[in-house]
Amino acid sequence: MLCLGIESTAHTFGVSVVDDKGNVYSNEKDAVSTESGGMIPAQVADHHVSICDDVIKRALDKAGKKIKDIDLIAFSQSPGIGHCLRIGAFSARALGLLLKKPVIGVNHCIAHLEIGRIKTKSKDPVLLYASGANTQVIAYDGGKYRIFGETLDIGIGNFLDSFARYIGLGFPGGPKIYELALKGKEFIELPYSVKGMDVSFGGLLTNLKQKYDSGKYKVEDLCYSVQETVFAMLLEVSERAMAHCGKKELLLGGGVACNKRLQEMSDIMCKEFGGESFIPENQFLVDNAAMIAWLGIIEHNAGVKTDTIIKPYERTDDIEVIWRH
Ligand code: AMP
Ligand code: MG
Repeated sequence: MLCLGIESTAHTFGVSVVDDKGNVYSNEKDAVSTESGGMIPAQVADHHVSICDDVIKRALDKAGKKIKDIDLIAFSQSPGIGHCLRIGAFSARALGLLLKKPVIGVNHCIAHLEIGRIKTKSKDPVLLYASGANTQVIAYDGGKYRIFGETLDIGIGNFLDSFARYIGLGFPGGPKIYELALKGKEFIELPYSVKGMDVSFGGLLTNLKQKYDSGKYKVEDLCYSVQETVFAMLLEVSERAMAHCGKKELLLGGGVACNKRLQEMSDIMCKEFGGESFIPENQFLVDNAAMIAWLGIIEHNAGVKTDTIIKPYERTDDIEVIWRH
């Protein structure tokens, strides 16, 4: 069985062909990036419309498949930017109609977890999902993927990108902050905002901007210190979730999880905890369509049926995880 998956929750329009064993035949994408400013929803949607046919064609060509070989269409139905989600939903519905094949909508956050499980062979992990808009600590418990901790304001990626943009590094800023942090020598104390099981980045961003504007600190030291601080915050909450759930595996997901320092700190925490850290390849960490196709297959095989209406605000724990009962 072959599924064509479409990802379009935000900046990335991705298309992938995956089979029911989890083999990924292609995982193509086209993403918006800007030198200044952020994402303007209507403009990102225009981008997705202008490249969607090309990305679908590339994904099929790379997979060596014809459109008629596809048995199932999956798309990211939630959560995300409405303008962007709608382009993926519309593309999926049109393909379903053309091919007379079923169409299934899936939750993007759960897709990160399920692709991580199949690609790393972790069995029952806690997921630290650290991406642009989302920052959540998620684990399976009582029939759902429950959120044990999350950001109270902005996502960690948006936080890093906002700071990067403020200091003139452009978007996406995460990789540039990482490079500068390697040259940092002195740790500068920053607000450490863990509140119960949740984290917050708004105050930290203001504080960082003030420190940068004061001219008293080296930018490399600020980048180094911000990584050490925010990654420690995320891993503190993740460790507590692992202890609470009695789980020994921590899986990383989301674009920020490409950061090698976060990966290293995750390994250290898990070893000290007596557990193990699992990190999928970068192509499965960032927003990608392979995870959408794979979750589409899992849910379709479990008998899930969905409509094609987008759900920008659906939460991870709104979904009944019937495929793991
Ligand atoms: P996502 O929303 O999952 O695609 O993640 C986007 C976020 O990941 C952005 O904030 C990027 O700055 C960040 N990011 C992407 N690649 C890297 C990398 N190699 N190192 C650090 N951050 C990254
Ligand atoms: Mg994501």
